[in-house]
Amino acid sequence: MTRILVIEDESKVARAVRDGLRAEGYGTEIAGTGDDGLVLVRREPFDLVVLDLMLPGRSGLDVLAELRGAGLGTPVLILTARDTVADRVSGLDAGADDYLVKPFAFAELLARVRALLRRGRPETPSRLSIADLEVDPVARRATRAGRALPLTAREFELLEFLVRHQAEVVSRDQIAREVWREPARGTPLDNVIDVHIMRLRRKVDREAGARLIHTVRGVGFVVREEEP
Ligand code: CA
Repeated sequence: MTRILVIEDESKVARAVRDGLRAEGYGTEIAGTGDDGLVLVRREPFDLVVLDLMLPGRSGLDVLAELRGAGLGTPVLILTARDTVADRVSGLDAGADDYLVKPFAFAELLARVRALLRRGRPETPSRLSIADLEVDPVARRATRAGRALPLTAREFELLEFLVRHQAEVVSRDQIAREVWREPARGTPLDNVIDVHIMRLRRKVDREAGARLIHTVRGVGFVVREEEP
């Protein structure tokens, strides 16, 4: 059974989300604080975490940082009441995979949950590589020069997409469609894509000898080995 953890202190919201997800057949648990959530997520395997940012005590962003710091790559969907780009970007920067602004319709939450869970199950298992970068879609693990890269689920999917299309320039339109599953891109999504590219660069290229992720101005991005 697919299992989802909801970390949310507002019990009415938490119960409504849990009951709705259970009705859809997902095994769903609630944690009322970030600490309880971290205990649960370390103890039992979950396929997805729904995380409220505004929690008493330890904030959602702290919980997220701790989760990622511990090497847990479980997809995380953030709930935020504050509809500002700054919050979204800091959430994404801390390792969230998607966000939803409160108040939201349950149908919208369900759509995001399904999309994140789909991304968790790659259909084409085969190992990909370029130079000393290796991407294993089955284990959902990427290494550079043998060193494991701490990627979020979305970062992994973006890197996998770029490496599958290595030496080919991919546009933000393609990335929006294939990685974010959005039919049309817009400026906010472009910003989110750029943030993810920046974070991938930091993780993939910064400590390596040669850069692999390149920006092609006005067109998009390409993964290729640098010309000698
Ligand atoms: Ca809250």
